[in-house]
Amino acid sequence: DGPVVIVGAGHGGYQVAASLRQAGFSERVCLINDEAHLPYQRPPLSKGYIKSSAGPESLMFRPEKFYQDQKIELIAGRAVSIDRAGRKVLLASGETLPYGHLVLATGARNRLLDLPNANLPDVKYLRILDESEALRKIMPSKTRVVVIGAGFIGLEFAATARIKGLEVDVLELAPRVMARAVTAEVSEYFQARHREAGIRIHLGVQATAIEAEGGKVTGVSLSDGRHLPADLVVVGVGVLPNIELAAEAGLPVAAGIIVDEYLSTADANISAIGDCALFASPRFGGSLRLESVQNATDHARCLAARLTGDRKVYDSHPWFWSDQGDDKLQIAGLTTGYDRVVLRGDPAKKAFSAFCYKGDSLLGIESINRAGDHMFGRRLQAMDRSITPEQAADESFDLKSALA
Ligand code: FAD
Repeated sequence: DGPVVIVGAGHGGYQVAASLRQAGFSERVCLINDEAHLPYQRPPLSKGYIKSSAGPESLMFRPEKFYQDQKIELIAGRAVSIDRAGRKVLLASGETLPYGHLVLATGARNRLLDLPNANLPDVKYLRILDESEALRKIMPSKTRVVVIGAGFIGLEFAATARIKGLEVDVLELAPRVMARAVTAEVSEYFQARHREAGIRIHLGVQATAIEAEGGKVTGVSLSDGRHLPADLVVVGVGVLPNIELAAEAGLPVAAGIIVDEYLSTADANISAIGDCALFASPRFGGSLRLESVQNATDHARCLAARLTGDRKVYDSHPWFWSDQGDDKLQIAGLTTGYDRVVLRGDPAKKAFSAFCYKGDSLLGIESINRAGDHMFGRRLQAMDRSITPEQAADESFDLKSALA
């Protein structure tokens, strides 16, 4: 009972507020927003937005009127502490907000590079709209970018920068790109595609210093002794979940804010969702912290349902996508931990899927330019069904028959 206060107005925070109203929740809803924009979509920041000339409003979930009409109070500012006994949140402005239920949807922040010259203006990161905007603004005056980190965001940006005519080098410490997230088959496909586009990918190397003259970036030194010239450096070396607010309030944290299978923290009046939440997963066993729009919005819907009387274990099936140049990668399920990969389709034709198995069980499907396989995978998982590796590899096997 009482107001719901949501800290963080990203994908998760916005969705809780919207879903609460949709479910008929009639008490006060406050959405604390520490960014100087209406809540917006993050995925285009490393993809289309950098290429386009559209304004920030093109990214907004909803116009301002929506929040007025729905009586969702957007509160500009930052939450700095939680008084759990008094059920109040303190904002940096000094204002306090009473809550009946508090939602922590604080997301994650960029992991910063700890290297000489890493704080120069031409060393950029990509997490928030202002960073994407800043990159878009300076790119026309730049000719050579070194991207540090070949994860999703680094590669999406690299592809975009190349399309915009920059010389692009990508550095990755691991022996293959996106190594934590996809199979070797998919890494190899993307390595080849980015190289075809003229991007130089350097694997198994680390940046050791950013070189500069007169405050301007001139290049990056590598652990193998080489030096790459550059007038721009973009860093995509992962994120750190924003757990400090919870930790300082005495809530259990580890690699995220610890929540149970209902997304509740150890305090029944406080929940955590999205990128910041380390949630118990009966389906996958143990705890998970995922970074995806699906995870944040499905968490939000599950929590809004609980707060309006429909208490259910969070049990959505994960899915994810990444657009890199002309290629669309879509992942259904969690493919980590596989011991067998079966390909359907043909990488040479730029359209295939990697079906990932552990023993006989299908963990997930990584699809490249095969949206049909991806949707099939999601529907199959929703039905808790599987197909055999032999069926997956056989293009004459009709996938639809497995859904009948
Ligand atoms: P966020 O959306 O990060 O929102 C958290 C908000 O809380 C932020 O605005 C933050 O500033 C604010 N905040 C933090 N602390 C406080 C505080 N104390 N007080 C007030 N506010 C606070 N996912 C996909 O599935 N597909 C993609 O293609 C994809 N592309 C991406 C591209 C980029 C460039 C980035 C950065 C992410 C991408 N993601 C993608 C990941 C996805 O955007 C995130 O998983 C998702 O935004 C997580 O939602 P969230 O609500 O947990 O956190």
